Amino acid sequence: MSVQRLDVSAFAEVQLVDHHCHGVIEHVPDRREFESMITESNWDAPVGTTVFDSQLGVAIRRHCAPLLGLEPHASAEAYLARRAELAPAEVNDLLLKASGIDRYLIETGHRGDTILSPQGMADRSGASADQVIRLERLAEQIAETQPAPAAFADRFRELLREQLRTAVGVKSIAAYRIGLDFDPARPSDREVELAAAAWFTEIESGSPIRLADAVLIRFGIWTAVDERCAIQFHIGFGDDDVDLHRCDPLLLTEWLRMTRTSGARVTLLHCYPFHRNAGFLAHVFPHVYCDVGLAINYVGARSPQIIAESLELTPMDKALFSSDAWGLPELYFLGSHLFKKGLLQVVNGWIDADEWSVADGEKLIRRICNDNAVRAYELAETPRFLAPGVSA
Ligand SMILES: [Zn+2]
Repeated sequence: MSVQRLDVSAFAEVQLVDHHCHGVIEHVPDRREFESMITESNWDAPVGTTVFDSQLGVAIRRHCAPLLGLEPHASAEAYLARRAELAPAEVNDLLLKASGIDRYLIETGHRGDTILSPQGMADRSGASADQVIRLERLAEQIAETQPAPAAFADRFRELLREQLRTAVGVKSIAAYRIGLDFDPARPSDREVELAAAAWFTEIESGSPIRLADAVLIRFGIWTAVDERCAIQFHIGFGDDDVDLHRCDPLLLTEWLRMTRTSGARVTLLHCYPFHRNAGFLAHVFPHVYCDVGLAINYVGARSPQIIAESLELTPMDKALFSSDAWGLPELYFLGSHLFKKGLLQVVNGWIDADEWSVADGEKLIRRICNDNAVRAYELAETPRFLAPGVSA
């Protein structure tokens, strides 16, 4: 009997949906800026060291260098020099197209003015795009207009409903702002009014407009639940603003019980190093999905192990693919490349062990790459932002 295995052709017929990412920059970053975008630290590497000496740095030199016409494992200096010879649009075009991503769900709430818009991403990559709204940013936009505190709740509800006419879902960064150990209960409109009043007073006295109030953040999340939309949560690994011990998705357990029959779908992003806990939640709660995006890039050569661990309990119908890339096209390419490579390695291991059939492996790939995102986000057949030359 010939041993059958899966190869990259298993991905060829699947429309790859990146269910969580951002836009790319379109200028030539100097070395310091480039390094700042391949680490989750907000500080420069210590003097005499470089961020390239990391799993992600090695992966860029190994896998991205050949796309720019260099040998694999080219030095960081050679890589950046070659990159700077090309126009920024050309680098983006090259790496985004090589990623094989067909549809981006783009969250626009993080420094949206410094990166390409969803339409800009569609134009540059030749793929299509949809938009995801950041709940905390929406509240901040309302705060900028300084409405009466009593009007905040209705204003938020109206604005969210309006935006969800075209956006495919929302994201919450509660993990960053208040930790996931928040009170799961829905706040009353009176509590929201008092919290808005206190926040607006702070803003009037000169504080920057940055939502960190637990009542208002919980209100935003519950308003999204009422809209029965897809709600992304930042989980686990992120920059040094997060208190990682308060980013375990198990902290959402009670809130997930309360929302199980709401009609909303919850997508847990990144999840590392709590991806096994996220897998448990996706296993027991019908409305929960999860991914290991972001982590795949950062763990580089170790990504097959993380992918395997994330697929221990997560049902085939609940795992999602994301790059969580922001800024550099390298991160979209690697997010996709390492994911496909790792997933093939993992599934082929199960096939070789006579545990899984090739057909089961193909089914898993179709579900993770496309079907699960289409179901979780109720994606329309026609994306909102189309690549040039594609008509609805
Ligand atoms: Zn993100």
